[in-house]
Amino acid sequence: MVPGMTPRFRIARSVGISIGLTLVCLECVTLVSGIPVPLVYWCVATMCPLILSAAISGHLVRQSDRLHQLYTELQQTHAQLKIAAEHDPMTGVLNRGAFLGRIGELRAAGTAGWLVLIDVDHFKGINDRHGHETGDEALRQIARLLREAVRADDLLGRIGGEEFGLYLPRTSAADALALTERVRSHVARSTAYVVDGRAHGVTVSLGLAIERTPAENLKDILHRADMAMYRAKDEGRNRIAAAA
Ligand code: GH3
Ligand code: MG
Ligand code: MG
Repeated sequence: MVPGMTPRFRIARSVGISIGLTLVCLECVTLVSGIPVPLVYWCVATMCPLILSAAISGHLVRQSDRLHQLYTELQQTHAQLKIAAEHDPMTGVLNRGAFLGRIGELRAAGTAGWLVLIDVDHFKGINDRHGHETGDEALRQIARLLREAVRADDLLGRIGGEEFGLYLPRTSAADALALTERVRSHVARSTAYVVDGRAHGVTVSLGLAIERTPAENLKDILHRADMAMYRAKDEGRNRIAAAA
């Protein structure tokens, strides 16, 4: 619907224009020919457009409102589909493809950043001890905790399984270390899942890497972050390691 104009107003407007134009035409014919037009012609010239254009305008206005409503619904569905295609349904963070894609876009625009891989420590034990459902709930809570700890402009995604990725654009080394430490400690001191009324926590190991050059392949940066993360595991877990 056209904002600020009710359908009734729009129908009345086009009927008014239709009658007005017909009467102006009749007046012109009268002036040019010099023959006075009888009153009954004026009445017919008013009634015909009134009846015809009211019916046609009503139909057109209803059609255009329906089209507008369908277009709005299509836009909403498209936006929902885009969100569904880019997000992990379980945790709500970006899925692997969208996460790596957004990093690629940022790098293509000249924005460098730190890539952080975050792997939950001893996650398999949660599934083994408490079942997959509890493991799923823990993953949802961990994603929430990560979201709470990062900044609005940081990208957060689920790389796969119990591994998350973080991209910190335009961030100094000192800030990247401070932020990853905030992430680590926030997860470590929070509740990740509850079993029989007892709260349990988890820890995460984090590996950081930054591009060596703007042309460095993202796969290579991911590999270096992955190696750093495994070093954090080897050094005892619940810690951060940065790639050389
Ligand atoms: P580490 O500290 O070395 O990372 O040990 P880990 O147990 O976390 O690592 P491992 O690779 O041995 O196990 C990962 C487990 O994560 C195995 C897999 O079943 C579980 N997992 C992966 N995705 C999901 C999921 O979506 N839901 C649940 N519940 N478990 C998952
Ligand atoms: Mg793990
Ligand atoms: Mg893992």
